[in-house]
Amino acid sequence: MIIAIDGPSGAGKSTVAKAVAKNLGFSCLDTGAMYRCVALAALEEGSDLSDEQRCGTIAREKAISFGHVEGDPVPKRVFVDGVEVTDAIRTAQVDRSVSIVSAHPLVREALVEQQRRLGREGDFVIEGRDIGTVVFPNAEVKVFLTASNEERARRRVLQNEARGVGSVDFDEVLADIVRRDELDSSRTTAPLTPAEDAVQMDSTGRTIEDVIDDICARARAARGF
Ligand code: C5P
Repeated sequence: MIIAIDGPSGAGKSTVAKAVAKNLGFSCLDTGAMYRCVALAALEEGSDLSDEQRCGTIAREKAISFGHVEGDPVPKRVFVDGVEVTDAIRTAQVDRSVSIVSAHPLVREALVEQQRRLGREGDFVIEGRDIGTVVFPNAEVKVFLTASNEERARRRVLQNEARGVGSVDFDEVLADIVRRDELDSSRTTAPLTPAEDAVQMDSTGRTIEDVIDDICARARAARGF
């Protein structure tokens, strides 16, 4: 079974996806981390981020993998060619660069193929922007998670503080998520938009636990247990 959780930055997708996966015993895939890995690799080698061919080659050739922190069933560590990049992909510089790289059709083609291959391996909660529309249009449960801009910026600041990486300046984070939403929603290939059959959930006035329970209930109903 695939549970697709799409939505803009900071809507709570990661927290929700990881908790739903844990509750249901599913695997979890953070596709945003994969686009971040490509952006980081392009930045590190000094490539022009607008060079679609080069970014596409990086997306095809770099081996992106995930790993577990001991005792935690949800994979939170990220590696590129075996080198850990868990924190390096969360910097403000990667925040600013990733939407340029993710707009390239060649990059999307390469990563979508990997996401489909992984997702076929079992029961997955997959979070991203185009999971319900493009990557797994037949996902059994599709959720489009949103929250107000201010709420999303507030959560992102708390997350960056906890991780010790990325900007913790509210105005800077707010400006970044608004800019990224704009870029992600206006690109030609796989723009950020809810699938027609997605359940839209606004998490602004709800607790994260409530959203998690709601999605788990929908998954159980879809599976008949
Ligand atoms: O989810 P996160 O904020 O880490 O995603 C980083 C960026 O990766 C997004 O702003 C978007 O440009 C890109 N992305 C995408 N498609 C996905 C997941 C993320 O284009 N499925």
